[in-house]
Parts: sequence; C-alpha cells; structure tokens
Amino acid sequence: MTYCRVALDVPLAGPFDYAVHEPLALGDRVIVPFGRRRLIGVVLQVDVVPQMPLEQVRAVEQVLRDLASLPEKWLALTEFAAKYYQRPVGEVMLPALPVQLRRVSSYEGKRAGLEGPLARHRSRQAKQVPKPAPQSVLPVPALPLNAQQQAAVDQVTAADGFKAFLLFGVTGSGKTQVYLAAAHAVLARGGRVLFLVPEINLTPQFAKALAQRLAAVVQPDQVALLHSRLADGQRLAAWLEAYEGRARVVLGTRSALFTPMPDLDLIVVDEEHDPSYKQQEGLRYSARDLALWRARQEGAVVVLGSATPSLETWRHAQRGDYQLLRLDQRATEAVLPTIEMIDTRRLQLNKGLAPQLIEAIGQALAQSRQVLIYLNRRGYAPVLHCDSCGWVSQCDHCTAYSVVHRVSGHYMRLHCHHCGAQRRAPEACPDCGDPDLKPMGHGTQRLEQHLAELFEQATIVRIDADSTRRKGSAQALFDQVHDGRADILVGTQMVSKGHDFTNLGLVGVLNADSMLFSQDFRAPERLFAQLMQVAGRAGRDGQSGLVMIQSGYPEQPLYQALKNHDYEGFAQSLMQERAEAGLPPHSFQALMTAQGPELKDVLAFLQTVRASAQSWLQANGLADAVMLYDPVPLRVVRVAKVCRAQLLMEAPVRAALHRLLQLWLPSVGHRHATRNLSWQLEVDPLEI
Ligand SMILES: [Zn+2]
Ligand SMILES: [Zn+2]
Repeated sequence: MTYCRVALDVPLAGPFDYAVHEPLALGDRVIVPFGRRRLIGVVLQVDVVPQMPLEQVRAVEQVLRDLASLPEKWLALTEFAAKYYQRPVGEVMLPALPVQLRRVSSYEGKRAGLEGPLARHRSRQAKQVPKPAPQSVLPVPALPLNAQQQAAVDQVTAADGFKAFLLFGVTGSGKTQVYLAAAHAVLARGGRVLFLVPEINLTPQFAKALAQRLAAVVQPDQVALLHSRLADGQRLAAWLEAYEGRARVVLGTRSALFTPMPDLDLIVVDEEHDPSYKQQEGLRYSARDLALWRARQEGAVVVLGSATPSLETWRHAQRGDYQLLRLDQRATEAVLPTIEMIDTRRLQLNKGLAPQLIEAIGQALAQSRQVLIYLNRRGYAPVLHCDSCGWVSQCDHCTAYSVVHRVSGHYMRLHCHHCGAQRRAPEACPDCGDPDLKPMGHGTQRLEQHLAELFEQATIVRIDADSTRRKGSAQALFDQVHDGRADILVGTQMVSKGHDFTNLGLVGVLNADSMLFSQDFRAPERLFAQLMQVAGRAGRDGQSGLVMIQSGYPEQPLYQALKNHDYEGFAQSLMQERAEAGLPPHSFQALMTAQGPELKDVLAFLQTVRASAQSWLQANGLADAVMLYDPVPLRVVRVAKVCRAQLLMEAPVRAALHRLLQLWLPSVGHRHATRNLSWQLEVDPLEI
C-alpha cells in the first residue's frame, strides 16, 4: 500500500492524502471518499508520506482507467494558475475537465464498474449511423500578403522554441491573414495550433475562415471548437479530440486555454486587449496572461494581436520582451475612416441625435450604404422619472436605477441590470400619483424606435444582449446585416467585435462621454479600444467610411488621438500618467472584495484584514513594499440586498505582493458566519 496526494474540487486548501493499493501515475483520476460524499479527484503526487495520522487516512475507492493520465504539462499549467490566482488547486483542475469526467454519478448506477461516460460516448459514436464524411470545405486560396504581413509571417514561423510577438495593426490591416498564414506553415510542418478569440459569436465565422484557408493542411474534422455554449456531449467530444491529439487546431474562447493538447506549437490570442479574456468569477484568471505562461512551458510561439494593445502588453513590447510586428496599412485598398467629433454643447438634439448625424445617415442610405449607430446601453431608457416630485425608478434590492424596457407597444417594464429583478412599470408616480412618468435618456430600444420614425423606409436591426437572447438569434441578425437585408444597425459593444460589415458607410457613436470620467483608471484605455474597434467597422473593401462621435467634450485628448488614429501617442501619454501615479503596468495589484448584509460590517471586516496584512508586512520587513489602500464601498454598493466593498493592495514589484498573498492570505478565514460575510480575491484585477 502507498499514499497519494489528490486534488479535489472543494473550497479547502488541499490537496488531500489517500491510501491506494494499486500502482498510480500522476494525472490519474480517482474516486475517493470525502466527508460523506464521494468525489472524483486528480492525483498530484504519488508515494507521499501522509500529513495526518495513518489511521485517519482513507483509501482510494477506484482508479479510473478510461482515460490516459492527464499530462504533466497540463497539471503544471493548472497548478501554476491555482498558485498565481490564489485558489485551491482542485478548484482549478477539475472544472477544466468536461463534466462527465469529473462527476461521480457518471460512474455510478447499474452500470457502475462496467462502463463510464467515455465508453458510452465511444459506443454511441460507433453504433450510430456511420458519421457522414465531414462536410467538404471549399478551399479559399490565401490572399496575397503585403510586405508587412509577409514580414510578420516570416518572423513568426522562423521562431524556434518559445517566443512572444505582439502583432499591432489597425482594424482592417489583415491581422487574421497573418494568423492564418503562420498557422498554415506550422500545420504543414505537422504542428498544432491553439486559437483564442474574445467572443463566442465570432467562433463560427472564424472557424469557417480557418477551415477554408487551412484546407490544404488540415481536415475539417481536425478542427475542434471549445466554448462555454457547447452542450456537455459536444464539449466532451471536442475535448477528447484535442486531448487524444486528433485535433490539430483548437479554436475557442478563454476557457479553451486549458485544453490539453500534445505538442502545441503556436498560440494565437486575437484582440488580446479584450476584457473577456479575464474571467470575472471563480478562478479569476486571464487567458491572455496564462497563454504566455503556457507557450513558454511548451516551447511554443505565442502571437498576441490587437489594434489597441493593453498597456501591459504594450509595455512588454516596448521593453523588447515581446517582439513588435507592425501592420500600418489597411490590407486591400481600404482607407482609414474619417473620424469627426460632433460638439453637442450648442446643439439642439433631435431625440438624442445631432442634426449632422441625421443628415449623414440620410446621405449614406441614399447611397445604399449601411449605417451603424453604436450605443453601449441596452433597454429603452436608463431610468423612469416623475417631473412633478422627482421620483426615479430604483431597484428595490440594489443601489441602482431600474432600466426601462419596452415590451410591446407602450407596455413598459423595469429591469435591474445588476440583480436581474423585473417588475411592471407603475402607471402613475408611486409617490405623488402623477400619471405622466417619463423615460429619461436613451437606450438601444428607444434609439431603434426614433430611427424608425426618422427613416420610415429603412430596415433597422438591433443587436444587443436582449435581441440575441435566444440561441442562434445573434447569428441570424448578423447574417441579415451581412446579406444586405438591413439598412441601419443599432448595437451595443456586441457589434464592435470582429464582425466585418463590407458595406458600412457610416458609424455614429452616442453617449461615449459616459466612460470618459469614470473612477476606474482603466476606463480611458477601454473607451479608446472600444471606439477604435467600432470605428474600424466603417469603410472596408476599398470604400471610404465616416465615423461621427457625439460628445460634450470633443477637445479631450482621447478624442483627438482617436481622430488621428494615434494609438501610440495615446498609449504614451496614458503610460506617462500611470507611471506618475504608480499604477499598472508600473505596479501590480490584488483586490479583495467582501460582501455581506451590512455595509458597516463589510468595511469593518476589511479594516481588520488590512491591519492584519499591515502587521504581517511589518514583521517580514516588507512594510514599504506593498501599499494597502483604505477599504471603500463599490460604486454600486448594494446588489441583490448584499453590500460590497473592496480592499486594494498594490506593489511596484510583483514578488512582494505574491509573497504577502501566499504566506499571509491563508490566515484570513474564508467564511465569517457571525456577520454572514464572504470575500474573494482577484489578482491583476481589470476593474476597480
Ligand atoms: Zn411624482
Ligand atoms: Zn437590482
């Protein structure tokens, strides 16, 4: 009998020791007793000396032999993620596996011991009607690359072993062609490629381009898609294809970063600046950052692509950690769109739209070109308001306005975008009885209505989280735009990512100012990236495009840089500001967010935590190495009746911060039952 150490998906530090009677390898999956439950775990160490009295050590019940042991590189990747982001290793490792492989119930019941989910999966595939030959793909020859694109491809494919590149190119400069040409070369040599894209809605479009362009070097069934909207069976099938090495290309959103693949040669992270690479719950990891770690570990090449790189990535490129590859020109003959600011201060707006913008929309429509109006605020209006007494629609559970949504005709509902609570809009003011309640401001629904009134002949399509709730509806709406069956497209951020609208002549941007003066120091960086991305939708395929941005602050440097398509100048001035303020990327941060029913308890708890961290730092001679800010309530302090506050920790050197987290953090208890408090920690937080 020997002892092994096992990672389990439980919110305790772990790993846990078990006795075992048969030979085991690292990465084997085992069924073990845990408390009164049985759980599937992953073996992290074998032949260990148990850390508890031998009589307390329980035995492994079953070793699951249906899958080859998880590879050591994968174990190392998940262990690193757990350590870096301060989570128990099992909470990282197990959720990264398909659900059938980590749920004991898959191996229980009348067929227990006879067959597991993999045997069922395989037998289902073999009996079933023979799989139709994979749909043949019409190969699309490579577009001729311009000199810069070719140079970029040459650099990427010449790299031997680990190397990181930043492919910096304006929207429309043909970054995708560079990814595909590099992937083509890698696949032709027998290698494997992992593609990460920021947005689920882009995967079908990208998968098609990939299959067409790479048809000479991979079969369609050698491309595996992995993202969060797959059904469990589909995910298992795709994951196995990658795991067992049949897939040569894996394409997916951030969670695909954890897909085990033998011999990975190239990782592409498209739109590397996109916030969706950061998971916002559970393991709060950055798939972009882990991609760098994974590439180094695999001896692979990693290409980060963006028109507006994150300042973290830009700094690495400036220092030469990543090699900078520039694409300055738009591919094909397309020219950069003209960006105009509309100063709204002295203007009479017509239903939120400036007269110049209305005129430009009319002109574009007269030329049979499509128009995109970008408003990053869904619903009908941000708030319902009573003129007589000043009442405004507030969520009962949150310190936030309830947003007006139009259901049909004039029927209104109030939705809270924070907790999801919904109710009928009152017919009269609840405070003074005035029946004349007014929606204030504009959301995409109201904008759609106004545009329909102004341009009666135009077909208008709205794309936001509400209009695309049903499965497949986003694709149908995008298809309608691509096929030319839409004249005006109204959309939130969903429309700005990656979609190519070939006939788009005009982009109008409303309400950009709302992000200009945010307290979050990353807001200008995000706003610039968003606007650059949405502006880049205009004027492709050789036709010029016009972008009009309505603003009350057109002289702001951010807008001026945008007008000049000057990311580099903008990045330089932001970098300067961050350096002076000691903010990332010139420092490293961790953020503790605590929540509970009473704000004063939450703040008091964070004060205690802060004092404890402070004394740990002093005792370890690190008092000046890590700065601990005063705990502050979140901007929306109460959500679903729970109050939230944050404690920010910051250090000029990453090592000091991580020493604090590794050595001191475990002393902070996880649950505070008396006051009903809980907390999470986020390393490298994106939103503060
Ligand atoms: Zn009133
Ligand atoms: Zn709410």
